[in-house]
Amino acid sequence: MKTLNDFNFKNKKALIRVDFNVPLNENFEVTDATRIVSAKPTIIKILEDGGSCVLMSHLGRPKGAQEKFSLKHIIPKIEDILGVEVKFASNCVGEEAETKAAALQPGEVLLLENLRFHEEETKGDKTFAQQLSRLGDIYVNDAFGTAHRAHASTTIVAQFFPNSKCFGYLLAKEIESIKKVLEDGEKPVLAILGGAKVSSKITVIENILDKVDHLIIGGGMTFTFVKALGGKVGDSICEDDKMQLALDILKQAEDKGVKVHLPVDVVAADAFSNEAHTQICDVRQIPDGWQGLDAGPESLQIFDTVVNESKTILWNGPLGVFEMEAFAKGTIALGDSIANSTKNGAFSLVGGGDSVAAVKQFGFEDKVSYVSTGGGAMLESLEGKTLPGIAAILE
Ligand code: AMP
Repeated sequence: MKTLNDFNFKNKKALIRVDFNVPLNENFEVTDATRIVSAKPTIIKILEDGGSCVLMSHLGRPKGAQEKFSLKHIIPKIEDILGVEVKFASNCVGEEAETKAAALQPGEVLLLENLRFHEEETKGDKTFAQQLSRLGDIYVNDAFGTAHRAHASTTIVAQFFPNSKCFGYLLAKEIESIKKVLEDGEKPVLAILGGAKVSSKITVIENILDKVDHLIIGGGMTFTFVKALGGKVGDSICEDDKMQLALDILKQAEDKGVKVHLPVDVVAADAFSNEAHTQICDVRQIPDGWQGLDAGPESLQIFDTVVNESKTILWNGPLGVFEMEAFAKGTIALGDSIANSTKNGAFSLVGGGDSVAAVKQFGFEDKVSYVSTGGGAMLESLEGKTLPGIAAILE
């Protein structure tokens, strides 16, 4: 696997695919700069080698060139974080971009306008990718968040750099972390899958059953399993058409020697609301008119024991409706357990969708081993898929 350290960038121009798809407020100010901060080590390494950087990214989902999606809004933030002046090309391909890239001196940074102002980007257009390829000597992919897309800048462009392409530090770290869990994980390996629905996680569950010793199932998914096993789930979220699938998963897990832990009790509410009345009840005996919205105290104790006995932990999906304070306790308690296990030497990876939001919201970011920067890309990796953006560098 070629990484940045295999190259010396002295007098070279790196064409870097970064993920600067950051949230902006109504004044076009960056409200969460995590993605820019994450790309910094790669950019700094290249500049310190004596090279220059041409940065390309998308921002949002523009229809054509729309001012509000211009990457020029984030220039001050990038300059703040890198401590370097950032030049700008108002189109990511064409004469202006080529002239500005050609004039770039060692130590300088050029940001290209939003790639998705051209529909050729998401279409993976080869001519467009070739135009991009003229802007650098070495192609670096450091955008895990889009590595599952075969877009021009994430995948197709790599073919124009047969011997001069590599992963940036961030993407390399993502790949290593997933490998550390799914391939080289120290046993016992635990996966915790929460979130809303079985249907959105089914391929993940099937893929990881071969790799884990323990599986905790939580969140809204719980109730499809509980009902399939004969429990009463009241008004809880439940996919009746996935009950047979749930039973198949439990059977597969048993055959493979994977221990499955479902919640035994829940915080049930009489409405999907933070102000609802609540009661703790047995997960198999939720009264009609009530719905399970968080894991109960006994479940949390069981989960705590499993988490603390595990040496490798993967966490995807919250244990309850953590967006409402009344139902966030389970997710917070699980975060605490994982933080504690990590402190005692376990490797913990959090990734894919809402668990990342939960980890950030409750301040666990620095207490777990790694928080993935890619939602969809992480889920597809956990499903066992080879991501096109990663394959394109390895080819
Ligand atoms: P996912 O994107 O599949 O990880 O699902 C995350 C969502 O699942 C969050 O928005 C949670 O509010 C929701 N969720 C977790 N537990 C429950 C539950 N018991 N009932 C309904 N929704 C839930």
